[in-house]
Order: sequence, then C-alpha cells, then structure tokens
Amino acid sequence: MTDATTSAAEREPSQLFIDGRWAEAFGRDRIRVEDPATEQIIGEVPDATKEDVDAAVAAARRAFGVWSGTSIPERKAVLQRFASSIADRREALAHLVTREMGTPIGLSRIVQADLPVSVIQGFAKHMDQLDEVEHVGNSTVVQEPAGVVGAITPWNYPIHQAVGKVGAALAAGCTVVLKPSEVTPLSAFLLAEAAREAGLPDGALNVITGSGGAGQLMAEHPDVDVISFTGSTSVGRRVLAASAGNMKRSSLELGGKSANVVLPDADLATAVHRGVEHVLENSGQTCTAWTRMLVPVHLRDDVVDLIREAFEAVVLGDPLDESTTMGPLATARQREIVQGYVETGQQEGAIVAAGSTDPWDAIGHYVRPVGFVNVHQGMRIAREEIFGPVLSVLTYSDESEALAMANDSVYGLSGAVWSSDRDRAYRFARKMRTGQVSVNGGSFNPEAPFGGYKQSGIGRELGRHGLQDFLELKAIQL
Ligand code: NDP
Repeated sequence: MTDATTSAAEREPSQLFIDGRWAEAFGRDRIRVEDPATEQIIGEVPDATKEDVDAAVAAARRAFGVWSGTSIPERKAVLQRFASSIADRREALAHLVTREMGTPIGLSRIVQADLPVSVIQGFAKHMDQLDEVEHVGNSTVVQEPAGVVGAITPWNYPIHQAVGKVGAALAAGCTVVLKPSEVTPLSAFLLAEAAREAGLPDGALNVITGSGGAGQLMAEHPDVDVISFTGSTSVGRRVLAASAGNMKRSSLELGGKSANVVLPDADLATAVHRGVEHVLENSGQTCTAWTRMLVPVHLRDDVVDLIREAFEAVVLGDPLDESTTMGPLATARQREIVQGYVETGQQEGAIVAAGSTDPWDAIGHYVRPVGFVNVHQGMRIAREEIFGPVLSVLTYSDESEALAMANDSVYGLSGAVWSSDRDRAYRFARKMRTGQVSVNGGSFNPEAPFGGYKQSGIGRELGRHGLQDFLELKAIQL
C-alpha cells in the first residue's frame, strides 16, 4: 500500500516513509522487532540500502526549498498541529514503545507522548524569534535554516529523542531524514504518520530504518548538511569522523556516568531514595542516570540500608501492567552487556550490598537491580556507562574530595547534589563539569538546554537553545 492516507499500522513490512508516503524499500533484507518482555516478534521493517538513503535525502532536499520558504506563522501552525496529532496518539505511542523496548506503560505515556507534545509546543513558541534581526555596526545579522538534517536516534527514549531533533529541525525550517534505532523503528513510523496528518509538506520528514550501515551512509552523505546523533560515545566518535567529508555540522548527545553527590548535611533518606529511583528509571537505560552515588564515608552503612529499602519497593515485571515499576532491558544484547559489567565489578573487588545478581530464568530480558559498595574511581563500573540498573556507591572524606571524584570522568552529562543548605549545593553544582545538575532533586526541565561537557557530546537540545544546531547565521553588510 502506498496511499498517502494509509496508517503506520497498515504499512507493509517492506516500506519506509519517504516523500510523504509509504515507499517500497530497494533492499530485500528485513529487521525483526522483538518485544523484550515476551520475546515475541511484533513487526518487521526494511534494512535500508544506499538507494533508500539516497531517495530519502533527495526527498528532504526537494522539500527544503518548500519548507524553508514557508512563512514562520505557517510553519508554526504545522508544528502546533504536529503536537496535537502526537497527543491524539498518546495511548498508541506509549503502548508501541512499551512493546518495542519495555518501558513501563505509565512512564511511556509521560515520556513518549506528553513530553514530546510539550517539547514541540516549546519549539513552536521560540519560532517567533527566528525572524528577529540583529544590527551590528553596518551589518544586519539574520538566522537561516541549516539545510537537510540526518537524525540518528537511540532506543531508550525513542519518541522523546526523535522529537528533540525532528521538532527543532522542522521549527528552524530544515527538513529531516530520521533513522531511528533498529530496536524501536515502529514507533518512528507512527511519529511520521502524526507529522503527515499535521500537514507537513511531503519530504519534510522521512523515516528510514536500518542496522549496520544506514547510519554511516547518512553521516557520510554529501547532501546532508547537519547530522544529529544520540547514542554511545564510541559511535559518536565514528559519526563525527564520517561527517567530516563535507564538513557537516554535527551535534552529538552521548554517554554519561553521572555523580549523585550527597553532602553530609543532606536529607539522607530523600537523597538516597530519589537517587535510586533515578538510576532504576527505564531499567537504568538513561544517559543521565546518576549511577555513581558519592556519600560521606561515615554515612555509608545508613546509605546501604536506604538503598536496600528502595530496591525492595521495585516491582519488576510486565511493562504493560500498570503496577510494574521496572520492565526488562531493551534487548538480549543489552542484558549481556549489563550482566558483563556486574561480573566485572565483582572481579574488580566491588561488593554487591543491595539487590541481586540471580539470573532471571523466565521469558524476557530482565535483570534485577544491583547496588555495589567498595567501589573505587579506577574500577570500570565507576568509569564506564553500563546502561542498566546498576548503582555504585563511592565514599569520600570531605567536600573537595567529593568534587574531585564527581569531576573525575571522561563524561559530563548530568549529576546531582544534595544539601540542607541550598546555597552550598548551588555552589557545588557550579563546580561540576556537566551540562545539567539537579539540586536537591530539582526536576528535569524540557525548556532547559540539554547536552554534555567533555565526551558526553557537542551541542545542546531542547528549548530555545535546541534550535541553534539547525540554524546558520548570516551577516549582511549594508
Ligand atoms: P549506539 O547507540 O551507540 O549507536 C547505534 C546507532 O548508530 C545506529 O542507528 C547505527 O546505525 C548508528 N551508527 C553506527 N555507526 C555509525 C557511523 N559510523 N556513522 C553514523 N551512524 C552510525 O549503539 P547501540 O544502540 O547498540 O547501543 C550501544 C550502547 O550505547 C548501549 O549499551 C548504551 O551504553 C549506549 N547508548 C547510549 C545512549 C545515550 O542516550 N547516551 C542511547 C543508546 C545507547 P546503523 O545500524 O545503520 O549503522
């Protein structure tokens, strides 16, 4: 079926979304999409070839003239309708993402539907400023859309991460080829359906699926102007190298190993419980997860008791069950990685003080939460992104040591600090070399810039700052 009104659910397994319609892929290879809770196959998508990538980029290039030439009020109205058509699909999107990668359904509703709606509405609001000009001496400085964007998005928060790129790029006047992770491709097609219903011109958003090549083809493509990638730091490095051919602008949202610093005067129970919650959210598959808990050495035993208490409250099970708080890991491969780190931690001398390393012997890619003590900064479990429900507790003797430990990481994505003295916590936060810091549990703000220092990435997503990666500045001398 290629009819422009065909829904994503009716799409054939052989089809991609190119130029506003379901388009037959050139290649014959398919990727099977597995539900990690049931291990059943829930769909198939094409493994895109070079011809498919070229077709999607060509459609985006053709649409660029139309979309970038559309007035800002008209573009803004399309963005607002895009947000509404996502809201209309709230239950379908949440359900599909939960089936694709195992996020508990309640969290899916919030992160895969409600959050994307507010993120797009936020971008629409900031579009009013795109027309503003700056006068510098004899120059008039204007902002213009950067061109065709290649967006390569991961599986852990698939719709939220796609919208952070696609919404911002479209708001800026760019057109997009989106390549979602092969783990969560079906929800990206549902997003495309929502965009089409909103009246986005044909070709302004294209969705191609692939595994093991399509991403690199996009990053290398001479007709892609901007590449925006979220995923591991190791692949981010390769994306940057592949983009160098035509000097693409590259924005990268990469890994993290964030510190949760509990200062001695903090409300200990709140700091530890909230810290555990943050690490276990989405089964630990969160780039900002506060996976290193830094606590004063004299409070270590109290902290461990609180971690055990928090772990006992976890309901591990069917992510479609409303009472479940933790689902499976997204893939069998991810479970292998996480189990590998748990073994490595024990070999390195860390001690499992909370949770359990017992394997899950039923269906589904589940792991149980693990809390390590006796962890030192040099250990791999304290330095590398694990992407699973594994918390490391490290101890410090004074505040300056805590700060040095917090900053002793190649990453700099996120972090937290707790103190009954908010000014003290704020001063500490200012010294942390990370893109985000939560003070006393301050909540995630989708209007605030999101991104990392050091090897956690380049650029910022979300809110007003999130548009910058997709804009060029032009100075006209008069
Ligand atoms: P990555 O998330 O690191 O990257 C996979 C994606 O990158 C695929 O879409 C792939 O496309 C693309 N890609 C691979 N090579 C290139 C290249 N040279 N140029 C352009 N694109 C490329 O891998 P995984 O999903 O396998 O996850 C591995 C680990 O990454 C996880 O265990 C986790 O630790 C971390 N991760 C971190 C995330 C974060 O938010 N920080 C999110 C997800 C994962 P193709 O298959 O077509 O080549």
